[in-house]
Amino acid sequence: MSLVTHLGFPRIGLKRELKRALEAHWRGEAPADALPDTTRILRERHWQLARDARVDVVPCNDFSLYDHVLDTAVLFDAIPDRYRPVFGKNRLDGYFAMARGHKRDGHDLHALEMTKWFDTNYHYLVPELHAGQHFTLTGDKPLAEFLEAKALGHRARPVLLGPVSFLLLSKTVDGSDRLALLGALLPAYVVLLRQLAAAGADWVQMDEPCLVLDQDGDARSAYRRAYAALAEAGGPKILLASYFGALGDNLALTSELPVAGLHVDLARAPQQLDAVLDALPAGRVLSAGVVDGRNVWRSRPALVLPSLRRAQARLGDDNLWLAPSCSLLHVPIDLAAETALEPARRATMAFARQKLEELRVYADALAGQVEAVAALDAQQALLDQQARQHGVRNPAVRARLHELSPQGALRRSPYATRRSAQASALALPSLPTTTIGSFPQTDDLRLARAAHRAGKLADDAYTALLEAEIERVVRFQEEIGLDVLVHGEPERNDMVEYFGEQLDGYLFTRLGWVQSYGSRCVKPPVIWGDVARPVPMTVRWSTYAQSLTGRPMKGMLTGPVTMLQWSFVRDDLPRETVCRQIALALRDEVHDLEAAGIRVIQIDEPALREGLPLRRADWPAYLAWAVECFRITAGGVRDTTQIHTHMCYSEFNDIIEAVAAMDADVISIETSRSRMELLDAFVRFRYPNGIGPGVYDIHSPRVPTQAEMLDLLRKALKVLDAGQLWVNPDCGLKTRGWAEVKPALRGMVDCARRLRTELAATADT
Ligand code: GLN
Ligand code: ZN
Repeated sequence: MSLVTHLGFPRIGLKRELKRALEAHWRGEAPADALPDTTRILRERHWQLARDARVDVVPCNDFSLYDHVLDTAVLFDAIPDRYRPVFGKNRLDGYFAMARGHKRDGHDLHALEMTKWFDTNYHYLVPELHAGQHFTLTGDKPLAEFLEAKALGHRARPVLLGPVSFLLLSKTVDGSDRLALLGALLPAYVVLLRQLAAAGADWVQMDEPCLVLDQDGDARSAYRRAYAALAEAGGPKILLASYFGALGDNLALTSELPVAGLHVDLARAPQQLDAVLDALPAGRVLSAGVVDGRNVWRSRPALVLPSLRRAQARLGDDNLWLAPSCSLLHVPIDLAAETALEPARRATMAFARQKLEELRVYADALAGQVEAVAALDAQQALLDQQARQHGVRNPAVRARLHELSPQGALRRSPYATRRSAQASALALPSLPTTTIGSFPQTDDLRLARAAHRAGKLADDAYTALLEAEIERVVRFQEEIGLDVLVHGEPERNDMVEYFGEQLDGYLFTRLGWVQSYGSRCVKPPVIWGDVARPVPMTVRWSTYAQSLTGRPMKGMLTGPVTMLQWSFVRDDLPRETVCRQIALALRDEVHDLEAAGIRVIQIDEPALREGLPLRRADWPAYLAWAVECFRITAGGVRDTTQIHTHMCYSEFNDIIEAVAAMDADVISIETSRSRMELLDAFVRFRYPNGIGPGVYDIHSPRVPTQAEMLDLLRKALKVLDAGQLWVNPDCGLKTRGWAEVKPALRGMVDCARRLRTELAATADT
């Protein structure tokens, strides 16, 4: 009978127990054994949950206190020197110093860089390596967690990040070649594998997710070399795990590697099954990742079962394992906790626990159990029936999308025409000043919002409070002399949730937490149906704010790509179709704002870049629809209406053409942390429209000096025209306090004024 297994489980706990335990530990408020106790209980609970779901083999060492890439670095002693003194005193302090930085006992250590784990919303810490780096096995985490699972009676398979992906996900601080370190790293893996075998592990899971990326010749030789060495180690049998996409042009390489089993992602890339079956040498195990580990939907038996039967016919039962497509880290733990969800919605959804249960049913069906086959038939029938429900399909939305013509994505005139129309309509000075949208979210505001949600604060009182806050924000901006004002977003909890809650087709969970990094979790909204906007969402706040001032008030929306990217998206429509639906809903909001007298509208797209597919070849198609969706949102407004967008990052070099194609009148971007490095992109490519490279870093509580801001602006003026330059911070101010925001913004406006005078003086001479 086919084995049921999985590649990894969420670590954080249903009620974010790990978060609480970590944060108490960091505050120094917890007794010494509180954190280890909590983590042991979580591991035990999650293994037991898998056992209850009749999973045959569970992973171990999939747990992490903070991050599994950091764990791997620490395990093999890849610890940068600056952390060594802290490690010397206390290993756990050293570990957290690498994760979060360390400011204590005379140390002031910055953390490792953090970056996105492939195209998920999980972030890992980037190991810092250097030429001549030594690796030794110094930790015992994989062994300890294996023994822990074994003692509890589980058949456990240690999970390790494979050596090649580990190196590829790291960086070298001296610019040397990461893969050159493979020879030094492999012996440490060999020691570990022998240790695990001696402890009784029959299999080990080597995660090599980089196998789904474009890999060059050096990387390919590294895989060959690495797995040749590991195969000789005399360790457990190796299950080589690929996930997040198709092996594609790495399939031949992968199937050559001397491993005992291969895991492939058949949720993201179901089409690769036949090629994989053809390429797989006889006698290998195939772990078929058929249940989507990245999404919250039940699987479709009509698609999955025939694939599994094909695999079964080729491989036999013993060599076919059933698993989720990737680690379940990226989905919430248990749908059973979502008691408030509409039953019809719940019936179509599956969180980690339900996904394991589904796998069992598939395995039973493959083994010929009639009840299991019937259960899968029933599941498919239910999904088919749900697919026809109103809301899943909204005829008005479908019709509108069908009628959408390419003109829908156009402004009325080209930028040059709009530019002069806006210049006379808005009468802004040169180097106009503005902010990115949010102002400090004070405790008072948060408490009031919570009270309002809980029904303890009446609508009227809440509205009055928000209006008072908006007035305060407007008066402050007028007082310091900002040119384009914002209302400050006091009514918003989160930039996606706020809109999702007002749109048809979205739902929200109670405990649908997913780890973003360390103790940080997000609760992504779920897009289950056609997206439509029943009523205006922001118009009342923006018009109220505009009524308080003669200066232009900027309307503030979250863009369609970001609304998509930060949600769990239905899997019965292409993502681009869902994105177009959102774009049309937001377009209505844009037009309503315009009709209500709002002359500047910002459509934030901080997630546009992170939506880029893993393979370069897929970039153009994604960028085409992402840009089109933005343009649909902004399309059709008057030439005098100024459209802004905002992105929170500075890696623009490879997407600048697409950013220009969005054709926003003004874009604000992050640049202060990189000291305007991004402007390199603008040397190569002349960005035509208005641009505000952020002049101060809102992520830091530090108030920037005017000298710093002037310096950044002068740098910007070297590559941008004075006529296109805007002056603004890097991002929204919601996480800052008023005490920092006031002097920082005052200084910023002052800088713009000084520079205007200078520019006018040079123009006169
Ligand atoms: N308008 C949003 C704000 O100011 C933008 C946030 C973001 O880019 N992440 O908070
Ligand atoms: Zn931002």
